[in-house]
This record gives sequence, structure tokens and C-alpha cells, in this order.
Amino acid sequence: MTGNMDAVGPVPAPGPDAVLPAVRAVWCEHAWLGAGGVADAVRVEVDGAGTVVGVLPGVPAQDGDVVLSGVAFPGAANAHSHAFHRALRGRTHDRGGTFWTWRETMYRAAGALTPALYEELATAVYAEMVAVGWTSVAEFHYVHHRPDGTPYGQGDSGPHAMELALARAAVRAGIRLTLLDTCYLAGGFGTPLEDGQRRFSDGTAARWLDRLASLRTTISALYPAQQVSVGAAIHSVRAVPEDQLAVIAQHLPPDVPLHVHLSEQPAENEDCLRATGRTPTALLDSHGLVGDRLSAVHATHVSGRDIAVLADAGAVVVLCPTTEADLADGLGPAGDFRAAGARLALGTDQHAVVDPWLEMRALEHGERLRTGRRGHFGPEELHGIAALGGAAAQGRRGAGFRPGCAADFMAVDPRSTRTAGSSRAQLAYTATGQDVTGVVVGGVLVARDGVHATLGRPADLLSAAIARLDEAADAPTGPGRATANHRRGRH
Ligand SMILES: [Zn+2]
Repeated sequence: MTGNMDAVGPVPAPGPDAVLPAVRAVWCEHAWLGAGGVADAVRVEVDGAGTVVGVLPGVPAQDGDVVLSGVAFPGAANAHSHAFHRALRGRTHDRGGTFWTWRETMYRAAGALTPALYEELATAVYAEMVAVGWTSVAEFHYVHHRPDGTPYGQGDSGPHAMELALARAAVRAGIRLTLLDTCYLAGGFGTPLEDGQRRFSDGTAARWLDRLASLRTTISALYPAQQVSVGAAIHSVRAVPEDQLAVIAQHLPPDVPLHVHLSEQPAENEDCLRATGRTPTALLDSHGLVGDRLSAVHATHVSGRDIAVLADAGAVVVLCPTTEADLADGLGPAGDFRAAGARLALGTDQHAVVDPWLEMRALEHGERLRTGRRGHFGPEELHGIAALGGAAAQGRRGAGFRPGCAADFMAVDPRSTRTAGSSRAQLAYTATGQDVTGVVVGGVLVARDGVHATLGRPADLLSAAIARLDEAADAPTGPGRATANHRRGRH
């Protein structure tokens, strides 16, 4: 365990009513207190579990305080990530095609991953995330087994080698991790797995549930839940046949957050209607899987009825606006979801962009483009979606400047090239991750001016990790040889 994670490290999770004494403090030059506006000289006291226990505006910093310059906001909770997709950034954008052709390239990258390579890459990706203000991440993880589908064994740090690699990466980067272990069984409705999908599958939902139970036991013995916790995911209704959905509905423990890719593409809806006579939302609902522990990721192509079902059930709708634009998924009905009372969250998904500020802005811009009007999501709502919506999707406490909140903060420079002249209240519309001056997780500084407190520059980590993945993919016997060939146009 690294020193920077002391706040969310070895301290047992307190009970809901436990009050622990403050052990550290974060002093903010300015802090955005939501409806309370921006306050000056705010000292936030934090207990040993990384929870806010006191907020004092208008007081000086004390020796030993973590000092955040600029305007501090609640840390953003990333509700949807596939860490290895970061290796595809800048390599697929010029070829045209669709989500489906991008997916072929993504499978080749997945084929090259080993636990060691994935740990290195994920450490770099999580360092990139945390340096721009994401303080927790829901990792939608489906690369479970060896490329041929056989489980990892004792020589590879056990059957959870890939999952433990991600957990170690998050701990090193100082980001809170909700590891969404994903059930992935089929290549489509009535379609077997393709070769590139074999390592994603446990064969049956029952075997996935067994592995999930074992993973929960393993992770909870190693990490407190505020640092690493385990959730569940159904990859999509494409990838889990209906009879297996029924098994999951019956046996998934009720306290586990559940995520699903939902109606990202019209083709998924068409196939689902053809195979089952229902929309993906209606199919999940008919099995009792739509509830307040569900996070529906994308929900781009949904009917009015689907929107009502998700909203009424209290599900979280996880929008990934920069990914949905990059992959030409379409513009989801964010405003309709909000009007229906759905809870919203944001995710960076395939990581063509990793920046909570740009994700918040893209949400508002999408609504402007859709409606021809400005002013849909105000700054308070955008920060609420980024911080609290993403935390709800992970079953975590949200970050904020109130006792009981997670002491996770991101501060931005209000006088940068991008933000100079901006009203402090409107920084959500002008700042980017490049303007982040400091990030705190659990009261502990994890990044300053884009540099990670213990790992250094995310750019260096990413360059090294992606180069090593390329090397492995290029090796004559490498499992992902086709990846590099594809990237260079040698099909
Ligand atoms: Zn995804």
C-alpha cells in the first residue's frame, strides 16, 4: 500500500453512525459550496476514514494542511471506464466506420493484455484520471481469463489475476475503485462467442456468479471498501442470453451495484426486439433487473416507455457524452431522463477523452444541439451529476463540503488561459482538466498541477505502458500480434 492512500487505506470502514476525530485538513483558497456559492479560505477537516467532519469558511490554513489553490469542487466520480481502451486513443479516429468496426480493433487490444501489462496500463490510466479530477472510478471489467478462455491459475497470482491487477493499479494511483465484474457469455442474440471474446466468458451465469462471490471475498480481505469494492455488470442484453439473465436475477446478492450497457446502438434494439419481442430495457425489467441498484450505461436509443421504467425504478443513467460522440452512437435523451426524474451520472468509457470538465460540458452541449436552446444543466446540477451521480452508481458516498461526505476534491485555476475572466460560478463551462491545480482523495493530496504525487507525470506512464503493450502485441508469439498489424494497416 502506498503512502498517499493512507486516508482510504488500512482504516476499517466505520459504521454509518460512527464519528471519528479529524486527523487532517484540506485548506481551500476558494471552495464551491453549491447553492451556497463560492466561499473563501475554507478549511475542511477530515477523519481517518477520509470523511469530512468539519467545514470552516474564512479561516487561515494551519501547518500540515493540504493547500488547494484556485477554486475547489467536489471530486468527480467516473461511472464508466474500460481502462484498456485508452490504448486505442488516437489510433482509430481517422478510419471512418462505426461503433462495430471500432470494436474489432478494441478486441485486438484486449487480446494482447496480460495481468502485468494491464496493471501497468491501468495504473497510468488511473493516474491520468485522478490528475484531472476523477476521484473514483467504476471499472466495467470483462477481460477475465487467458486469451483462449482458460482461467488464470496459481502461477499467475490465482484465478483473479486480472482483477487484482486492476485493484493494485487503482491503489497505486490513489483513485477509489469499484470493480464491476462483468458477465459476458455470447457474441449476440443466438450467436456464440467470437475468438476475440473468449477470454471474457465464464461459460454460464452460474459460473460467473461463483467467480464473483470468490472475487468479493478476495478483495474485501485485501482492501477496505472505500478504497476498492466489487460490483457486478451484465455486459449487455446482446452478451447475456435471456435464460442466463434469469439466473442472475435470482442469485445476484442484493447489496451489489449492477451495471449494464443499454441500447447504445439501434442494432442492439432491433436484434433484441427480434429475439425477445421486447426492448432491452423491457427485457431487463421483465426479469426484475431494473431497480435502484441498476446503472444503465448510455441508454442512447430508448423509447419514452424505457425512460419512464428506468426513472421510476430509481436507476442511474450513465451518460458518456464524449464517447457517444466519438463512436457515433448518437445523442441520448439526457433532458428527457432528467424530466422523468432519473438520476444521471457521467463516464469516460473508451477514454478518447479523460476529463470530467469536458464530460460535464458535453452533456450540456448535447442538449443544446438537440433542442436549439441553451441553459439545460446549470453548474450546480453538472457538479452534482459528476460527483453524486457517479458515486451513487458505485454505491459510494459522494464527495462534497459537508460532514459525512467523502473528502475528495478537485481544484481549478480560475485565471488560466481558458478560464481567465470566467465567473467562478461558471467554471463548469470553461475549465478543463488542464486547469486542475490539485486533487485530493480522502483528504490526501494525490496530484498537483497535472503531476501525480507519487507516480509522476501521467504522460510518461501512459507512453511507457502503451509502448510495452505494442511490444507484446508485436512479439512473434504474442497473443495480440494482430493488434499491431491492424494499427499499421497490415491486415
Ligand atoms: Zn462501455
